[in-house]
Amino acid sequence: MKRERLLVVGNGMAGIRAVEEILARAKDRYDITVFGAEPRPSYSRLMLSPVLAGEKSFEDIVTHDRAWYAENGVELYSGTAVSGIHADARILVTDDGRSFAYDKLVLATGSNPVMLPVAGTDLAGVATFRDAGDVEKMLKAAKNGKRAVVIGGGLLGLEAACGLKQRGMQVSVVHLMADLMERQLDREASRLLRREIESRHIDVLCGAETEALLGERRVHAVKLKDGRELAADLVVMAVGIRPNADLAKSAGLAVNRGVIVDDQMKTSDPNIFAVGECVEHNGMCHGLVAPLYDMAAVLGQVLAGDKSAYRAVATATRLKVSGIDLFSAGNFSGGADCEDIVLRDPGRSTYRRLILRDDRLAGAVLYGDASDGGFFFDLIQSGADISALRDILIFGRALCEAA
Ligand SMILES: Cc1cc2nc3c(=O)[nH]c(=O)nc-3n(C[C@H](O)[C@H](O)[C@H](O)COP(=O)(O)OP(=O)(O)OC[C@H]3O[C@@H](n4cnc5c(N)ncnc54)[C@H](O)[C@@H]3O)c2cc1C
Repeated sequence: MKRERLLVVGNGMAGIRAVEEILARAKDRYDITVFGAEPRPSYSRLMLSPVLAGEKSFEDIVTHDRAWYAENGVELYSGTAVSGIHADARILVTDDGRSFAYDKLVLATGSNPVMLPVAGTDLAGVATFRDAGDVEKMLKAAKNGKRAVVIGGGLLGLEAACGLKQRGMQVSVVHLMADLMERQLDREASRLLRREIESRHIDVLCGAETEALLGERRVHAVKLKDGRELAADLVVMAVGIRPNADLAKSAGLAVNRGVIVDDQMKTSDPNIFAVGECVEHNGMCHGLVAPLYDMAAVLGQVLAGDKSAYRAVATATRLKVSGIDLFSAGNFSGGADCEDIVLRDPGRSTYRRLILRDDRLAGAVLYGDASDGGFFFDLIQSGADISALRDILIFGRALCEAA
């Protein structure tokens, strides 16, 4: 049988996982070519934080080196951005002017970091935290500069702040909301986290709005709306991500916030599929790896000719900062139909909150000792009835399994 030409745009975590899933199920069906705008082979993006902190090298986090592509018969064009898709003719065009025909196309273009719409974001010394190039830029700044301001007190911002601190910079975190990581933590866990971050001599400014980045050619300060100015040799903007759906949009595919896909990861064009952070499924876009891997598995099955359907499930978050153990999953904000079980030990800075709905675990926030995160996450995902364990549930796996 003649092999079909399968092109993948995006050599990131979802794109390469999709390729693995396809190889596992339909190795002989497709000739696969991958295009990646980044010049490097595929790496674990989430491990950029330990690289920034000096705990790992870039080589440690490479997941697929060039030999892997060769061994698996996958052609890789790295450092090559796809600039256009002619969906009717089933051709894509790269930024160096080459054209490639396809039978099936997979978009895995990820997200772009959001830049606040303030003056000065184009100054030298302003970075985002998305790829290996960004980490190189920050490390260079850490060598030459003293002060860093990280805008955004979410997961990425705090990992950047702690990493830069470990690299010897004086660091301030500017966060618009009242609580750090307010999308993953409740107020009490967030306060414990703030205390820990501040104990590492990182300044935390919550409820602080950025007005402008100041400087001539290089940034030298961040100006806040309340008039304060924070000196900065480096500014890291970590205020969120936006699905990278530009290519899909210009190809005429249905796009809302992200590239719209059905349960089979198919876009509005029957020959074009999409996976990863660029995707919008049932009105939702995702920014964590677990759902992207589920999408890749579904795509692998679909492209192998099997039946499969993607369903979004609860996700869990951990902060990858040495010495800070926190975990959050599911619905942690509760509601009228929810009940809380709380265990706090201020002396040990540990805190656990479980959120129950209809005798099932709906969410969990753990701070200080997150070793039972996986146990609680399984219960959230399975939707198991926990009424028999209710008295001891908060103490975690060891006690529950012994009961
Ligand atoms: C510092 C950091 C820490 C993180 N920590 C965690 C964590 O702890 N847990 C977790 O679950 N998630 C974490 N994430 C998020 C996780 O890394 C992402 O969800 C995941 O990488 C998204 O995969 P993706 O393939 O959709 O996008 P990406 O990995 O961003 O890959 C997209 C790729 O497509 C390329 N591309 C885009 N447009 C084109 C084009 N036109 N032509 C060719 N190539 C193109 C891009 O250059 C990029 O390489 C973290 C992210 C960062 C940045």
